[in-house]
Amino acid sequence: MYLKSIEVHGFKAFANKIVFDFHNGITGIVGPNGSGKSNVADAVRWVLGEQSAKQLRGASMQDVIFAGTENRKPLSYAYVAITLDNSDHKLPVDYEEVTIARRVYRSGESEYLMNGSPCRLKDVNELFYDTGIGKEGYSIIGQGQIDRILSGKPEERRELFDEAAGIVKYKRRKVTAQKK
Ligand code: ATP
Ligand code: MG
Repeated sequence: MYLKSIEVHGFKAFANKIVFDFHNGITGIVGPNGSGKSNVADAVRWVLGEQSAKQLRGASMQDVIFAGTENRKPLSYAYVAITLDNSDHKLPVDYEEVTIARRVYRSGESEYLMNGSPCRLKDVNELFYDTGIGKEGYSIIGQGQIDRILSGKPEERRELFDEAAGIVKYKRRKVTAQKK
C-alpha cells in the first residue's frame, strides 16, 4: 500500500485545485519558507480525520479554508482527497484503490467520502486501524513528536506499540462489546 496522490482545493494556501502524484518510492517536497510544504502534511492529517485545529496550526477548524489574498477572494470550502494504492489489500476492503475525501464549508457543514460515497469519520478511522496511517498512527511524524513519545507516559507509548503490533482493532471491539 502506498500514497498515490493528494488532491487539494481551497485547503489553506492551495486556492486552485492541485493534484500531487506520488510513486512507489521516496518523494521529497522542497520549497522556500512559507511556500506550503507543511500544508501538504496538514492536508493528509486533516483528511484522515484530524479534529484539532491546533494540530493543523490554526485557531479554528475554519482556518483550513483558503482565507484569500490581496488579489483573490476567500473560498467557501476546503476539500482534500488522498488516494492509496491498495493492490496488496492491506486496507480491509475489496478495492484496489481507496480514495478518502473530506470537505468542510464555512458554515461548519462537513462530510467524508470513501471512494465517492459519503461515510462517517468512524468508517475512516476503522479503515486505518493497525495500519499506522490513521490520525493516531505513526505515518506522519510531526515536529517535536519524537520528543513527546520519549517523554510521554508509558500508557501513551503503549498505544504506539499496539498500533504497530496490529491489535488496536481487537481492543476497540472489546470496549464496544463490553458496553453492550
Ligand atoms: P517552512 O519552510 O517555513 O516550514 P512551509 O513551506 O512549510 O514553510 P507552510 O507552513 O506549509 O510553509 O505554509 C504557510 C503558508 O500558508 C503561509 O503563507 C500562510 O499564509 C498560508 N496559509 C495557511 N493557511 C491559510 C489559509 N487558510 N488561507 C490562505 N493561506 C493560508
Ligand atoms: Mg514547514
